[in-house]
Amino acid sequence: MENMNQFLSKLVEKYRPLSSGAPASYIPELAKADPSQFAIAVVTCDGKVFQAGDVSHKFTLQSASKPFVYGMALEEHGREFMRSRVGVEPSGEAFNSIVELEKYTHRPYNPMINSGAIAVSSFIKDTKNMKRLDRILELFSDYTGHAVTIDEDVFMSEKQTAHRNRSIAHLLRHFEIIGDDIEESLDLYFKQCSVLVNTTDLAMMAATLANGGAQPNTKKVLVKKEHVPDILSLMFTCGMYDSAGEWAYTVGLPAKSGVSGGLLTVVPGKMGIATYSPLIDQQGHSIRGVHAVRDLVEQFNLNIFVN
Ligand code: GLN
Repeated sequence: MENMNQFLSKLVEKYRPLSSGAPASYIPELAKADPSQFAIAVVTCDGKVFQAGDVSHKFTLQSASKPFVYGMALEEHGREFMRSRVGVEPSGEAFNSIVELEKYTHRPYNPMINSGAIAVSSFIKDTKNMKRLDRILELFSDYTGHAVTIDEDVFMSEKQTAHRNRSIAHLLRHFEIIGDDIEESLDLYFKQCSVLVNTTDLAMMAATLANGGAQPNTKKVLVKKEHVPDILSLMFTCGMYDSAGEWAYTVGLPAKSGVSGGLLTVVPGKMGIATYSPLIDQQGHSIRGVHAVRDLVEQFNLNIFVN
């Protein structure tokens, strides 16, 4: 690990010139991202931080929020309820596919794709003392270790153009997976997607999952140990959508990407890895990030299937 910082700097140097891909544009505000930005961070389970590149640059979580809100819903409703509403099968489809509901149960295939994640957000309710949005903001503050805010421009940009997600939500309502609070649940989902973090924050979030649910610095348990495998197995089989198989084959670790360009990878018991670069491929994964994580995993022998 001593040479980790050096290796991360080399990765940034190696892949920054890669200019294929483009920032997501279906959320107009995301298209404004600076394509030169590239960062990588590693946080170990005992809280050591290694990083290189533009690590303090902030970006919105987008789908990288999904595993964490799923964890929150699991804590609140338990495994059985969650499984009765949202499946655990990879869909083999794009993240925003509309044909993502299982044939007979009409459950979304899994919580890592939009249909499943919108349902999951709808299950997060106000408590006596706290609004559902504040609960989600507190969750991400606990994961990152500091207060987080929402990028209001990205939120509004997605809300105003979300015809596809809106139609998915109505389909979920039709099949009684979610209740009548369709617009409120969509707003909550768009807001969790618009939470601002930097690459080191994202690595800290991944490290919390690697550490069995306890935040490496504060030691606060953010998701019970028993729920961590539920989250990680879904990240492994579904986190990379229709390239989850390719990712499993070449990297062999649970991961989750977001269309803003974030990518988090969990090395159970060891560390969290995060990258950021807004140039994404057709599946919505950061191209530089995928390359860098592959190299890092190979260099430090991190694939869980490699003995
Ligand atoms: N907010 C985005 C959406 O719902 C998240 C998608 C993603 O990051 N893959 O379309």
